[in-house]
Amino acid sequence: MSIFSHPEYDQHEQISCYHDPKTGLQAIIAVHNTNRGPTLGGCRMWHYASDAEALTDVLRLSRGMTYKSALANLDLGGGKSVIIGDPQQHKTPELLAAMGRMLERTGNQYIAAEDSGTSVADLSVMAEHTNNVAGITDRIGIDGTPCNGDPSPATAYGVFVGLKTAVQKRLGCHHLDGVKVAVQGIGNVGYRLCHLLHNAGAQLYITDIHPQRVAQAQAEFGAIAVSGQEIYSLDVDVFAPCALGAVLNDATIPLLSAKVVAGAANNQLAGQRHDLMLQERGILYAPDYALNAGGIIDLYYERIGHEHLKVRAHIETISETLEEIFRRAEQQKRPTGEIADRLAEERFR
Ligand code: NAD
Repeated sequence: MSIFSHPEYDQHEQISCYHDPKTGLQAIIAVHNTNRGPTLGGCRMWHYASDAEALTDVLRLSRGMTYKSALANLDLGGGKSVIIGDPQQHKTPELLAAMGRMLERTGNQYIAAEDSGTSVADLSVMAEHTNNVAGITDRIGIDGTPCNGDPSPATAYGVFVGLKTAVQKRLGCHHLDGVKVAVQGIGNVGYRLCHLLHNAGAQLYITDIHPQRVAQAQAEFGAIAVSGQEIYSLDVDVFAPCALGAVLNDATIPLLSAKVVAGAANNQLAGQRHDLMLQERGILYAPDYALNAGGIIDLYYERIGHEHLKVRAHIETISETLEEIFRRAEQQKRPTGEIADRLAEERFR
């Protein structure tokens, strides 16, 4: 397995592989770039088919965190960790403790947070062995009420702020009253986004594979439920992907009537050319990692200890970043995803 010639290797500063025979822990920590500060990113536990697959994931995800934190103007670099194993079968307190010790040995260059396959409770076990863990402290959330470290409310608020900015740019509309939004996935972020949109007067169309969540959103927000396929072709103003990656692809982009794509899901574009495809169709794409940075902003302030209004104000700067992306995209006649990458690179290189 090659490292320096790996397709996902991008001048990563440090890649550490850990094995703890007693607990069976096998983990990789990737520190992509520390130019702006120590790195912060999720600790994912996944039943990878091979070590190579785990390496690919951690290289790609850690690089993504550098771009996200830089674009959000945080004093953070990009890092990520993966634990190889099935969270349902292989996760034990001993294994999590071993991961905590590994985090301690990484030397303050990487701070771990919750991700797929790990929970706040799991991170709390790791935190018994290291300070290099974030997102586990009870605090006042961005809405002024107590929260338990879950970044989803902050993420949803950032998506809401960014969606409004994109609507204003593309539709010339300064409010969301009567604006039609199709939300794909009403989980932790999507449901909260629906709440904010509903309060702002938007008309909601929703889809999710969990019927209970759909029923709840219908009752609470008067949302109209549609099928997983219908969500793409609805006659709406905004498509908000909040479930899966790669949903903007050759099959779905031609179906879209929406003029704006603005959602929380990571890696929405199936490939780089889909950025251009959206531009060619006159659809304004609000780059996913610009929009969904509320969570990392929240985690950053949790560590340095600021009060919630300051966190909220920083999340609201997502709007300015998007305006800058849209302005440059228009001037340079280039797609917004590409422009976001260039802007992030200016901020961390
Ligand atoms: P979640 O698992 O709570 O919600 C995802 C929802 O999508 C679930 O309700 C699920 O049933 C639904 N879903 C799954 N497959 C679907 C399909 N085919 N069609 C329709 N719905 C489907 O996750 P989340 O925390 O709300 O995150 C949503 C997205 O936002 C993910 O891509 C995540 O990586 C990204 N994100 C989340 C955060 C955060 O703070 N939670 C931060 C940044 C990015």
